Amino acid sequence: MIKEIRIRVSPAEAANEATLRAVACREAGFASSEICAVRILKRSIDARQRNIVVNLDLRVFVNELPPENEYETIEYRDVSGGKPVVVVGAGPGGLFAALRLIELGLKPVVIERGKNVHERKRDIALISREHVVDPESNYCFGEGGAGAYSDGKLYTRSKKRGSVNRILNIFCQHGANASILYDAHPHIGTDKLPRVIENIRNTIINSGGEAHFGACMESLIIRADEVTGVRTRDGRSFMGQVILATGHSARDVYRYLDRMKIAVEAKGIAVGVRLEHPQEIIDNIRYHSKVGRGEHLPAAEYGFVAQSAGRGVYSFCMCPGGFVVPAACKTEEVVVNGMSASNRGSRWANSGIVVEIRPEDIRSEDMPDDEFSDALKVMRYQERLERMSWQNGGMKQSAPAQRMVDFMQKRNSTDLPSSSYTPGLLASPLHHWAPEYITSRLREGFRSFDNVSRGFLTNEAVLIGMETRTSSPVRILRESGTLRHATLKGLYPCGEGAGYAGGIVSAAIDGELCAESVARQ
Ligand SMILES: Cc1cc2nc3c(=O)[nH]c(=O)nc-3n(C[C@H](O)[C@H](O)[C@H](O)COP(=O)(O)OP(=O)(O)OC[C@H]3O[C@@H](n4cnc5c(N)ncnc54)[C@H](O)[C@@H]3O)c2cc1C
Repeated sequence: MIKEIRIRVSPAEAANEATLRAVACREAGFASSEICAVRILKRSIDARQRNIVVNLDLRVFVNELPPENEYETIEYRDVSGGKPVVVVGAGPGGLFAALRLIELGLKPVVIERGKNVHERKRDIALISREHVVDPESNYCFGEGGAGAYSDGKLYTRSKKRGSVNRILNIFCQHGANASILYDAHPHIGTDKLPRVIENIRNTIINSGGEAHFGACMESLIIRADEVTGVRTRDGRSFMGQVILATGHSARDVYRYLDRMKIAVEAKGIAVGVRLEHPQEIIDNIRYHSKVGRGEHLPAAEYGFVAQSAGRGVYSFCMCPGGFVVPAACKTEEVVVNGMSASNRGSRWANSGIVVEIRPEDIRSEDMPDDEFSDALKVMRYQERLERMSWQNGGMKQSAPAQRMVDFMQKRNSTDLPSSSYTPGLLASPLHHWAPEYITSRLREGFRSFDNVSRGFLTNEAVLIGMETRTSSPVRILRESGTLRHATLKGLYPCGEGAGYAGGIVSAAIDGELCAESVARQ
């Protein structure tokens, strides 16, 4: 017999398996000898009051053994003889498209400009050590895409719960911890992600699909309004319908599409800074404590949103116990982002604090006079900010930074706190050189966040410039029903780069939907 119960316990009780079992027996009304197993269905922390509790939904197996796996598995069949479909980009969008194609009997041929996930790690280390960014292998490019050396947070605003659970199950089947199935805020961690990505690649290859690295798509092969394949920079051709999942940083792809008059449009994004606090300050605020989080609570998170002069200001991609990372794709730009390991054990908490910017907010006099259309104007604004960050950060991968209260009071920081950002910080007056559109709204946002969480606005926190790649600045237009490109047959713009996803899980869901659409055609 199976019984499902809901309990509220202290963090210490939740952390101890034997205690948890005893509580479950009592609440379910059975003797311990009758209970074969207790599995967690959902776990969340309620820290609204001083007395912090953990909410747990449990499945209790009474005189019955639980199934061997905590997750459902998919049998991937042999598709070596199947019709090839070219998947450009091995980020979450491309990889999940490839897996779904296999389920549907089609053969994915994945082409990826960067290196495999392990070789990529060396190039990422060089960014901090030597301040050199390999334009083909960095935090955004390479196997696993922008999702590989990321935080691996798997929560999404997507309402398609069934699809979200499916994606989480597939992650588990490829080596992620089953806790992602029940945690309210599931998270894999950058130390675990490469292994999961490698396992996904092995599934693709073992099922008869292909994965090519160092294969950068340069152009589409188009015959009479129909895409029939792609050509790579090194002269190879890959034939088949094309799922284009190149992510939000493939600016060469956007420029190519714009030049070829393949329908794209400008899309709003959010830009701002990475804000880094000592984790202990965030723990004290969120857990109403003066002495940190103690032994049983995880590094605390936060999420803020405010309005300023008609635009949203909000925290984005919060990484408790994390690191601020250099996410540029070339040496002459500085872009910051955040990640964390599975144990969220660093001394710092960071998040993007960003301001919404719409295409109409960008004035034409701010734009260079070049051959590209207005569809790329948000992207070019983004490039400008990244270049400004590089110039003000010492023309290396070190990042311009300013203490939080100094920024509010428009004064230079004479020193900076210690930071997780390994290429180093350079004190710089962000209040002076960053666009007023952004700085004035950030100031208002910080005041509002401090009103709800006293102590958040502190000079122990540091603003690190700039956070610009929160989502795609361009949308590649699709036909709504088929997900096919608006004017070209055989082309399926997919994932974050196409403007239809904003995170690992939503990109993965979009990848699956594109694969299904290809199969239907
Ligand atoms: C540091 C960092 C931390 C993040 N943390 C999180 C997080 O915790 N949770 C979350 O949900 N999201 C996070 N994100 C965002 C998330 O990674 C992206 O939303 C997601 O990866 C988008 O998936 P995608 O497949 O659409 O694109 P991408 O992941 O960007 O993948 C695109 C792929 O296409 C390849 N490519 C590009 N151009 C070409 C070409 N011409 N030819 C061949 N290949 C090409 C790229 O090399 C890349 O591998 C983070 C991003 C970064 C950078």
